[in-house]
Amino acid sequence: MTERSEEVGRLVAATRALLRFQGQLGLQGVPVAPEFMARRARVEPVVSEPTAAPVAPVVVPAATDPVQALVEIRTTIGDCKRCKLCRGRTQVVFGTGLATARLMFIGEGPGRDEDLQGEPFVGAAGQLLDKMIAAMGLGRREVYIANIVKCRPPKNRDPEPDEVAACEPFLKAQIRVIKPEVIVALGRCAAQTLLRDPTPITRMRGHWREYQGIAVMPTYHPAYLLRSPSEKRPAWEDLKAVMKRLNLTPLPPKGVAPGAPK
Ligand code: SF4
Repeated sequence: MTERSEEVGRLVAATRALLRFQGQLGLQGVPVAPEFMARRARVEPVVSEPTAAPVAPVVVPAATDPVQALVEIRTTIGDCKRCKLCRGRTQVVFGTGLATARLMFIGEGPGRDEDLQGEPFVGAAGQLLDKMIAAMGLGRREVYIANIVKCRPPKNRDPEPDEVAACEPFLKAQIRVIKPEVIVALGRCAAQTLLRDPTPITRMRGHWREYQGIAVMPTYHPAYLLRSPSEKRPAWEDLKAVMKRLNLTPLPPKGVAPGAPK
């Protein structure tokens, strides 16, 4: 063995002993001189968390028939894995209703029932939404119902900015196909996300806004109305403003009229 290889062997043994000792102290890695760390900090680029959501592609269906165009959008989504919400979902909840609806309802995202059944607003909140729609003289199949994101956020949390950015092109494509005259934004999250406005829903509701050139009426989410029945009255006022704009005559079903949906 040469003098040089003996030296290397001693260094390796010493380093192993040092690492063993560090391990006993609960430390990991090779100690690095502070001057070296300072030098490295000057030459290495700082990698930070992305602050802006990724730019998502625009979805433009080729079909001119609205039903077929919606089918194309659904086909484009496929078994989507464009954001992390794909991990916990049962299925993509695309949207439901009339492809040429004058009125569109948009919520924040699918809940447990919607995730299992593959249709938006089918749980208790959905049943109340059905009553609200019926009180406007319409049926669920005469409007279109969708969400900001198409996969269930874990524990029903709000969708995060990167998830909204990944999914919103699909919603925008649906809106471009359906061309509703009015969108009702259901609840704080849907209204704030669609309108990019952090104003509380208590102040935003009841006031006309605009999204993609379409009139938007923010109002309370049906799930909130189930928890706070006293807010049904103002929510009904919001829907009456929508009816007025669309020249709808309320044909309330039995047990609902007159006044706010029960
Ligand atoms: S939420 Fe939208 S973008 Fe995210 S995985 Fe589901 S369909 Fe894709």
